[in-house]
Amino acid sequence: TGAETLLEVNNVEVIYNHVILVLKGVSLNVPKGGITALLGGNGAGKTTTLKAISNLLHSERGEVTKGSIKYKGEEVQDLDPAKLVKKGVIQVMEGRHCFEHLTVEENLMTGAYTRNDGAGAVAADLEMVYSYFPRLRERRKSQAGYTSGGEQQMCAIGRALMSRPETILLDEPSMGLAPQLVEQIFGIVKAVNEGEGVSFLLAEQNTNVALRFAHYGYILESGRVVMDGPAADLRENPDVKEFYLGVG
Ligand code: ATP
Repeated sequence: TGAETLLEVNNVEVIYNHVILVLKGVSLNVPKGGITALLGGNGAGKTTTLKAISNLLHSERGEVTKGSIKYKGEEVQDLDPAKLVKKGVIQVMEGRHCFEHLTVEENLMTGAYTRNDGAGAVAADLEMVYSYFPRLRERRKSQAGYTSGGEQQMCAIGRALMSRPETILLDEPSMGLAPQLVEQIFGIVKAVNEGEGVSFLLAEQNTNVALRFAHYGYILESGRVVMDGPAADLRENPDVKEFYLGVG
């Protein structure tokens, strides 16, 4: 389709600790308004790709040694994560990362800290988040640390939404969650994508569920994209079926 490309990762190489080559020239595009899945097994390099985009590799002694990362045509590789949030790109890290001692609602409000468009707009967006996540409204006064894994994942996505992002980088939302909850969370991601026009780049080991909700997929193996295509085509691809979908 003719959708504008928001994020353009071009031939990116990442090395950890100066010697461990983990991404070996990864290229991918995230179009405006789409859900793009980044698939692959444990250790394939999905998290590393997201962190390269968000410029979060330094604390892990990783660096981008080749290639370019552009958002709306502008090189963003050296921007710190807070500046990237201002440009509309926010990452939801693997493992959820809510502030355990804050309530669910306080967690959501921390997502709005970079905004300066007034309390009214922020309050309206809190309502918007609750409309997608009714469970968070029910739990709004609960301390996040005492909520379930699924609720914490919802809280992390809801907090990202409070920054009014254009693009969310979502790392492994299914991790540790029961199948029904995974289904529910992907359903909400799709509803947010359609209702708010938020674009997603979603790293996921659960190929099956990701390819049912995404529009397009990239499959990473050992730091390289080995296949990509519309999600519907990947679902029907014999190799994807055999190696990733568990059906022969
Ligand atoms: P997972 O689902 O486990 O997060 P992934 O596809 O996201 O898998 P990455 O976390 O990006 O994979 O890891 C890719 C490779 O890089 C793995 O082999 C991992 O051991 C290695 N790696 C990750 N972080 C570091 C680090 N800080 N230092 C050295 N090697 C690392």
